This record gives sequence, structure tokens and C-alpha cells, in this order.
Amino acid sequence: MTATTAGMPMLRIENITKSFAEHTVLRSVSLDVEAGSVTCVIGPSGAGKSTLIQCVNHLERVDSGLIWVDGRLMGYEDKGGKLYELPDRDIARQRRDIGMVFQHFHLFPHMTVRENITVGPIRVRRADRATATARADELLDRVGLDGYGDRYPSKLSGGQQQRVAIARTLAMDPKLVLFDEPTSALDPELVGEVLAVMKDLALSGMTMVVVTHELGFAREVADRVVFMADGEIIEEGITAEVFDDPKHERTRSFLGRVL
Ligand code: ADP
Ligand code: MG
Repeated sequence: MTATTAGMPMLRIENITKSFAEHTVLRSVSLDVEAGSVTCVIGPSGAGKSTLIQCVNHLERVDSGLIWVDGRLMGYEDKGGKLYELPDRDIARQRRDIGMVFQHFHLFPHMTVRENITVGPIRVRRADRATATARADELLDRVGLDGYGDRYPSKLSGGQQQRVAIARTLAMDPKLVLFDEPTSALDPELVGEVLAVMKDLALSGMTMVVVTHELGFAREVADRVVFMADGEIIEEGITAEVFDDPKHERTRSFLGRVL
């Protein structure tokens, strides 16, 4: 096996398994996500959805299995056909390709909105301040927050803070963005503005994996839907097929319960 392979999807998850103590949370999960596609991951609480995307982003270590991003094997390098585990510093570099948007926005409270967006590019990507600032203002415009750059996060609504968090993620030029219930912490009237930004991002061709309870969003925006329960992918397929003709009884009952 080699650590880079052409012709792969943007994300390949191959047989990953993860336990916390004796509790197995992911059981041999495999998933391909094509470049430019949107995959929504749905399922009951405790299914392992967050753990799955945290493993992709190396926030959690898998017990076994492999994860490839843009044809590169995460966490390893290939030396003469043999795989060696990468040191943390190199893993950190690989992780920069992956954007992450959480339920709670995790903005830096002591920085302005603009500084929140420029800090990554300046410190990590070594962008010059003028370029990073221009890009931040462009991204703020894109998420509907033109003119908000000088404000502090605490002065913004939850929906606005989450849109800043999305802009901050995009400023790092990720190849792939993972969302973990990005609207679950928001007041209902603020959900729509965040979903609209995510839809716009999807239409721009970003590769996205979105854990969400917003089934309307999944149905409208996702190319594929993954239904997880008890640490397994129970069913996965083209969005319309999963919603309109679920194959598995558990998918049917989950969709029946929440629709
Ligand atoms: P979901 O996001 O689908 O609700 P999670 O991935 O958060 O599910 O959790 C799956 C299971 O793993 C749950 O039973 C949860 O309690 C457990 N779990 C998640 N993170 C940890 C952790 N750091 N330590 C121990 N158990 C965990
Ligand atoms: Mg979760």
C-alpha cells in the first residue's frame, strides 16, 4: 500500500473502529465522499456521528482503519512502500486541509470578528496581514456579514457567530469541511440564515460532511445521506432514495419519527 493514491474520492473512510474503554462507538465504518459533494449524516443521539467526524479530523484517534483525504493517507507517510506513523507536527499539517464547524462556535472572545478570521491564515499559513484582512472582509461579505469585522463575538447573535465561524474555516482554504450539528445550539429563528450560508457553500462546490437534524436541509442540499445508529452505518445512499424509499427498518422508523 502507498500513502497517496490518485483517483480516490476527496474523503475515504475505510473500516474505522473506535472504542472508549469497553464501549465500542464506531464499528468498522466505511464511507466515500466525492469531491464537490455534500453528505449529510443523520441518526439518533449516541449513534457515533460526532465521533466519526472527530476521527476524520484527528480530534480522536481511531483504534483501527484508515482515513484518506484527497488521496493522502492521514497520519502516515510512505517510505519505500512501508507506512510509518507521522509525528504530531506533520499530522497537524495534514489536518489543515480539513475545516470544522462545531455546534458551539468556539470564536475567540477577545478578538474582533476580523481577527478571528485572520488569525489562522496569519499564524498558521503565514499569510501577510493585508492579504488575510482583505480575504476576511471578502468572506464576511459572502456569509452576509459585510461591515461586522470590527465587532466582538459577544455582540453578535448565535446565527451571526456561526456564520463568522464558517468564514473563519473557509479562510484556511480547506479541501473538505466537516459540520457537527452547526444549527443545534441556535434559536429556531436563526437556523435559516446559517443553513442558507451552508447551501451557498455547497453550491460553490465545497466538499461537505454535515451531521444534522435538519432533514429539510439534508433533503434539499445533500447529494447523499448516511443514516447511523449504534456505531454503524445502517443505510447510505442518494438523498431521494434514502428519504423516499429507505431500505432498512431502522431508517424508516427514524425518519417516520422525526419527519
Ligand atoms: P452522536 O454524535 O451520534 O450523538 P457521539 O459520537 O457523540 O454520538 O457518541 C457516541 C457514543 O460514544 C455515546 O455513547 C457517547 O456517550 C460515547 N462517547 C463519545 N465521546 C466519548 C468520550 N470522549 N469518552 C467516552 N465516551 C464517549
Ligand atoms: Mg453528536
